[in-house]
Amino acid sequence: MTNVGFIGLGIMGEAMCRNLIRKGHAAVVFNRTPGKTAALEAEGARSATSPADVALRSDVVITMLADPDAVRRIYDGPGGIASVSLAEKVCIDMSTVSPECSRQTAASVAGAGGDFLEAPVLGSKKPATDGTLTILTGGDEALAEMLRPLLLAMGSKVVHMGGIGAAAHMKLIVNQMMGTILCVFGEAALTGLAAGLQAEKIIEVVMASGAASPVVGLKGPDMLGARRFETHFPLRHALKDMKLAVLAGDAMGVPTPVTAAVQQLFAVARERGFGDQDFSAVVRGLTGN
Ligand code: NAP
Repeated sequence: MTNVGFIGLGIMGEAMCRNLIRKGHAAVVFNRTPGKTAALEAEGARSATSPADVALRSDVVITMLADPDAVRRIYDGPGGIASVSLAEKVCIDMSTVSPECSRQTAASVAGAGGDFLEAPVLGSKKPATDGTLTILTGGDEALAEMLRPLLLAMGSKVVHMGGIGAAAHMKLIVNQMMGTILCVFGEAALTGLAAGLQAEKIIEVVMASGAASPVVGLKGPDMLGARRFETHFPLRHALKDMKLAVLAGDAMGVPTPVTAAVQQLFAVARERGFGDQDFSAVVRGLTGN
């Protein structure tokens, strides 16, 4: 049993923290919007008054936050995690952020005397609920190995990628590709529909072809047929990831023209008011409705 602190109870964080509690860990929780702690408190979690309060009351602090800005605030803002001594404590950031953000957070945690691991996840709301996420770790390998059993309370696979920043890079590669696949599928399929092809046939043939992709199988029917965009992965976060992927390319001196175009389409969809819908609603950036 580990005394875990969990900060960020959004779509992913709440489900991940619930799995930690169900596997017998004690949880102290904090969320910017306080009402979101109620469900977990009913299941045995105790609530904290600030990120610093979480850190004081936990041995391992996990963060699952929207973006780099949120992560930097929760660690280094007023009442932040790194404002108290983190000696003998470990912080794990599981948010999707830039490698640079991970390195800054690692430095803040080290400055407060603690250890840090980055651990972004693959998988959305259902794998988070089922405890079947794939978790990528970056940082000290021995620390990652020590934390593996705890991480496996939230996931079914842990892959160590290398030093701090390596897991953040790997996570961005996956989302960069998934966002791009959905966009090109959207514009190709809309062209097919306009030409009179049937949605089911388009999906059936794509999925039987070399262009098949699990994300098309998962999201395609809702994108073309039912046009249901129930939020599993918010579009605003996909836009954030495209921006981070372009920045990562810039930082490495690698051109990312395809991702830059995809970023624009996500931005259009968000400007049209679909930012809180699932990222498959990017197709609405093309149709406008
Ligand atoms: P979400 O539902 O939007 O939750 C975001 C969390 O961050 C909430 O707890 C939110 O607090 C908090 N937050 C946002 N801005 C903040 C700020 N400035 N200061 C303090 N707290 C702040 O997002 P999610 O879907 O759980 O995703 C969390 C992270 O995991 C993101 O980095 C995302 O890219 C990544 N991810 C998501 C999925 C997915 O399928 N959903 C899959 C893999 C990875 P409030 O409740 O107060 O807004």
